[in-house]
Amino acid sequence: MNSDAVDARIIGALMEDGRASCREIARKTSLTAPTVSARMARMMKAGLIKRFVPVLSEDSVRRWVQALIVLKVDPASAERLAGTIARLPEVQAVFMTADQGLCLRVALESVADLQTFLARYLVGRRGVLAVTSSQVVTRVVKDEPPSLAPGSLRMDLRCDYCRGEVTSNRPYTLAAGASRYYFCCKTCRKAYLDRYGARLTKARRTASGERLSIRKDDGLRPSGGPA
Ligand SMILES: [Zn+2]
Repeated sequence: MNSDAVDARIIGALMEDGRASCREIARKTSLTAPTVSARMARMMKAGLIKRFVPVLSEDSVRRWVQALIVLKVDPASAERLAGTIARLPEVQAVFMTADQGLCLRVALESVADLQTFLARYLVGRRGVLAVTSSQVVTRVVKDEPPSLAPGSLRMDLRCDYCRGEVTSNRPYTLAAGASRYYFCCKTCRKAYLDRYGARLTKARRTASGERLSIRKDDGLRPSGGPA
């Protein structure tokens, strides 16, 4: 399943303010709050949105210097080496390149720490054939994730019954209390309902005001709302 234009509008609003409430996002995107809530839950379940993190101010990180390090490594140990280096707290990013290379971005407290870092962790390390270059970054002109086009993001949404991929942008769903379940097809939803229906109904009774609703999800109406 790919994200659609509705997802893209919500992601755009979240990129501006990751702490915005569903109601605020709904207002900005001209969607309804239940749609925003349902779509956000779906994107998180599918792993498209991994987590919400704070973006620190430039001032608070100014005491750090960044450096870019390019290594030539032994192809046989490149994978292992990349994994080990990635775990170092100074290392922000690790890229493997085609010419037996590893490119690292590291954050250090001072320029002087670059030599210490190289000597301690990289020079002479097994599998490191050479430190091709090491450069301190003097200014960051742009450092952002690629911009998003609607439909460009893949969501790995799994059927809650058979674990198969949910491919439709309008998957079959079940809502019980605060939880929502997704299915690849009508048959899986029916099978799930046959097996767990009693449990879901019980959960519904205990969560007052919530009801078990079954529908073909178009993501545009509140769960169980009027068609
Ligand atoms: Zn299924």
